[in-house]
Amino acid sequence: MKKRLTSFLLAACMMLPLSASAWAAEHPQMEGEEDVTLQPSYGVRSKQSGSNGTLIVTLDPGHGGKDSGATEEWNGTTAMEKDINLKIALACREELSKYAGVKVYMTRDDDTFLELSDRVRYAQSVNAELMVSMHINSSDNSSAQGELVIVPNGNYRPELLEESKKTASRVLSNLESLGLRNRGYLQRNSSENTYPDGSKADYYSILRNSTMANIPSMIIEHAFISNYNDYTKYLSSDDMIQKMGQADAKAIVAAYHLHLKSNNSAASKGDAPFEDIYTTDWYYAPVVFAYQHSLMTGTSDSTFSPQDTLTRAMAVQTLYNYSGKPETADSNRFSDVKQGDWYCKAVSWAAENGVTAGTSETTFSPNDLVTREQFAALLYRFKNGQQTQCSLDAFADANDVSDWAKDAVKWAVNNKILSGSKMNDGTLMLLPRSGATRAETAVMLERMVENVK
Ligand SMILES: [Zn+2]
Repeated sequence: MKKRLTSFLLAACMMLPLSASAWAAEHPQMEGEEDVTLQPSYGVRSKQSGSNGTLIVTLDPGHGGKDSGATEEWNGTTAMEKDINLKIALACREELSKYAGVKVYMTRDDDTFLELSDRVRYAQSVNAELMVSMHINSSDNSSAQGELVIVPNGNYRPELLEESKKTASRVLSNLESLGLRNRGYLQRNSSENTYPDGSKADYYSILRNSTMANIPSMIIEHAFISNYNDYTKYLSSDDMIQKMGQADAKAIVAAYHLHLKSNNSAASKGDAPFEDIYTTDWYYAPVVFAYQHSLMTGTSDSTFSPQDTLTRAMAVQTLYNYSGKPETADSNRFSDVKQGDWYCKAVSWAAENGVTAGTSETTFSPNDLVTREQFAALLYRFKNGQQTQCSLDAFADANDVSDWAKDAVKWAVNNKILSGSKMNDGTLMLLPRSGATRAETAVMLERMVENVK
């Protein structure tokens, strides 16, 4: 029997039908409204604090088990959405497995039934930073065809919508280049649910609960199972299903600047043993320089963690390395630095030589993060830098430089150790109070070695 849904024209497989009961009978899981809403949470990770820069993605093949999703009988076979969704997600995972810096979890990788809210709970449990739900569309208007991506309404935590769109915009264009008609974004408000700030919640459970869990999310509707052309060209061919999954994966790859594991990796070049830096990275050469000159080591045997922010312990260890690790009097007086800590000698040396004092008489705060102006000040003291009249007027945020750091920052700019960052609108910024990333640190060290004799 041909299964059809009573719904709006262009009904996404998860859209509210004119007759809710008819829809519910067909799609027990499709009610976005009635599903539970999770408690708000802030997630375990944030984009900036990822300890090793690995992106965690949850792929969610829609429906499964007793819930077939949209079905359609074509040429004597019944096509089921749940099977196609799973194939797309598996192809997406397979493609992503070729890239470094990404870990993929799937809500299901076989024909299993899962509640909608449990899919988001699972994403939460793996600390997902992106939730991508895979679906196929259906409409009782058999001429409706093409792809669309449902994204959060942006009413609550609008930054999640912005983050979702980085991937979703590329999904739309990648699928379009396979020949699918691009129907763009879809957003839909709940009529009864609200977010904690009182704004209209998202209608779709996956998006609503991902937003509550502080995870950027999207639902990709790849093609219409109810359209003969979409079905024959895209959904009846394993090759095209594979290509759609790869298109989704490549959108994530582009949005998060992922790199292929082989060929391009530093490890394969023998320059440095790190799997998370690449010859195409702007900081590649300085990181190799810092490593080969024993100024910086990895955060593990195989990782450099270029986007991690420098800590005070890392900073003094780096300068101690640069000095050739001289003997110290082991005069450590800080209660938060223990004999045997990897940075203990460096801290003693830094205090003995006036490179840096503690954060108080008795504390060093080794895990405190170092800002760009603080690192400039460290280098300035370390090099016994001379005052310069160099002007900071070229930088739009020159006034953000702390008074105590002005001489050091001028010295660093004068010696081209700090050159500022060009923003999208063309302005040049020093970002003095932003954390110095390990990549930026390597760049500043290389320039200091080259420019300050
Ligand atoms: Zn669906």
